[in-house]
Amino acid sequence: MKPDAIKQILETVGAVRQGHFELTSGLHSGTYVQCALVLQYPKYAEQLGRALAAEFMDLRVDCVASPALGGVILGHEVARAIPPNAHGKPVRAIFVERDATGQLTLRRGFRVEPDEHVLVIEDVWTTGGSTCETIRVLEEAGARVVAAGALIDRSGGSIELPVRTEALIDLRIESYEPSDCPLCHNGSVAIKPGSRFARSNP
Ligand SMILES: [Zn+2]
Repeated sequence: MKPDAIKQILETVGAVRQGHFELTSGLHSGTYVQCALVLQYPKYAEQLGRALAAEFMDLRVDCVASPALGGVILGHEVARAIPPNAHGKPVRAIFVERDATGQLTLRRGFRVEPDEHVLVIEDVWTTGGSTCETIRVLEEAGARVVAAGALIDRSGGSIELPVRTEALIDLRIESYEPSDCPLCHNGSVAIKPGSRFARSNP
């Protein structure tokens, strides 16, 4: 799947928004990509999951893990596209989620086996913070994280993770520390896009 084809899908579903946004990372930006608007279509989720899985076919992957909520659907589709391992064991798709203190953690009875080979999948990398935290949680649980993947890398290639990384597309979108944000300097107020879109797109 070529980057232009993916950009075409993002535009078709209206997933790229212009405005003044405060991202999960705390950074501000004039552009926001709402991946949920793409992944609401199982057809696109399946295509993108298969394309992302293809980037890791040279690796042994026993399990895909994603940070909730953003990575869950894509992680599920990536896991579906990975063939069973040599022992015929089907690939799992699990997720980590925030507990009451805001820490990502494995819940719902999800476990990883010692030395299980795990691929971490997220929808968008801005700073890669959630992916980094997910890798740490899994390693502390005994897994071996072999790589990390995302649908979109909007960091401009600046993220640094302790494993191999592959993103389907590179969307170089400027983001700013709030103190350096030109949109703030022009007097507008940043909104947190996730909840706003949830209300405006029932
Ligand atoms: Zn701002």
